[in-house]
Amino acid sequence: MQSSAVRGTPQWLRGLLSEEFFDACAVHPAERKNDKNHFCADCAAALCRHCLPHDPSHNVLQIWKYASCFVVRVDDLKLFDCTGIQSHTVSDHEVVFLNERTARKRSACAENPCAACARPLSSGHDYCSLFCKVKHLGESERGLRCALRVNRKAAAAGEEAAGSEPQNGKRPRASSSKAGPSCGGSSGKRSRKQLAPARSPFC
Ligand SMILES: [Zn+2]
Ligand SMILES: [Zn+2]
Ligand SMILES: [Zn+2]
Repeated sequence: MQSSAVRGTPQWLRGLLSEEFFDACAVHPAERKNDKNHFCADCAAALCRHCLPHDPSHNVLQIWKYASCFVVRVDDLKLFDCTGIQSHTVSDHEVVFLNERTARKRSACAENPCAACARPLSSGHDYCSLFCKVKHLGESERGLRCALRVNRKAAAAGEEAAGSEPQNGKRPRASSSKAGPSCGGSSGKRSRKQLAPARSPFC
């Protein structure tokens, strides 16, 4: 994968998108069932079941296979905003593909192509995979930063610090304002259009 070429991509995300999951774990070559089917975002490393239990404070994702591709559950992926990525329901869980899918690429007349790879998507989605969202947003560094979430502890600390925005007066829930304060694109459909910052260049 060429995801390392995407500017501003944190190491854990590059690792997640480039890892060959379900290969044998290098730490446990002699164990049975040593396929790497977990990923620790804090260590930016793939783990097998013998690597577990892992540090409980670390953010560990389980990787699944669906249609011969690697997928993660949206609920597990707490560090990245999956808005706009086409999801699939597998065993009652919403999952997204990690990597761009190779089959059926490039359909010139697709009504709703993936913003990065042009693979046709069902309406209401912008990207076929996590990789394509990272790639597309990476072209605008600000966009990728908007989709990245810090871990829970840092997020809690950050929320307190966020009170120091230069915007004064109006509360964020002004009823007549059309542009929401969220930069993640709450409706998904809107996220590919220009954000047109009406009053502030910050997100
Ligand atoms: Zn870890
Ligand atoms: Zn292992
Ligand atoms: Zn795509």
